[in-house]
Amino acid sequence: MKLTFLGTGTSTGVPMPACHCRVCSSPDPRDKRTRPSILIEYDGRAVVIDTTPDFRNQVLRERLERLDAVVFTHAHVDHVMGLDDVRSYCFLQGGAIPIYADAHTMENIRRIFKYIFEANYPAGGIPKLDPHLIEGTFDLWGQSFVPLPVKHGQLPVLGFRMGRAAYVTDFSAIPDSTLALLEGLDVLILDALRQRPHPTHSNVEHSVALAKQLKPKQTYFTHIAHEMGHEEGNAMLPPGVQLAYDGLKLEF
Ligand SMILES: [Zn+2]
Ligand SMILES: [Zn+2]
Ligand SMILES: [Zn+2]
Repeated sequence: MKLTFLGTGTSTGVPMPACHCRVCSSPDPRDKRTRPSILIEYDGRAVVIDTTPDFRNQVLRERLERLDAVVFTHAHVDHVMGLDDVRSYCFLQGGAIPIYADAHTMENIRRIFKYIFEANYPAGGIPKLDPHLIEGTFDLWGQSFVPLPVKHGQLPVLGFRMGRAAYVTDFSAIPDSTLALLEGLDVLILDALRQRPHPTHSNVEHSVALAKQLKPKQTYFTHIAHEMGHEEGNAMLPPGVQLAYDGLKLEF
């Protein structure tokens, strides 16, 4: 399985428009962070987790030739707004693309993208989607996706475990029942917005403590804000924990 970080930035992206701070002005390409999403490829299949407002540019950058499914963590703008752009794959592949979300997220996707789900939408050129509700572990072409319920402030959000890798973005707290599902990992990807605490996101200190508790072989942080540059941020992290960056690829 190959995992690609399509985006590793917080909701504004980095640089943040009109900000001239040190990180937003940094020449380091790893300080250019689009909105958070990952791509998983195995057995000729390609699955993305979330479709960010940067989805189109992310798949152009990665030269993604096909798309087999989209899995959603939650319906915040930085995780869903690129959904319309999956239509290029619908046109080329000639069919509907399955999307997976829990009931609350699916309800919001149907509201935000009402036109996509209208039976008699008067114009062509819209994506064809095949919605599936997540009600437990599901299988996509032989790979199991285990939903990992976490809290994003008050909002229930899903992370996902795929074999020995797990992606848990946008959380402030992980319940014990979900921590039990995060044992024995090779790769753990965690939200770590910045150093300072935030009401709805994990910060570096909290996510480092989780990595030490769960002991995956390697931990990567994502959903990173402009307060933390790549080089300096990485220098502060313990062995086995790193900041991810856009375009980073892992094989396992
Ligand atoms: Zn900035
Ligand atoms: Zn969110
Ligand atoms: Zn987010």
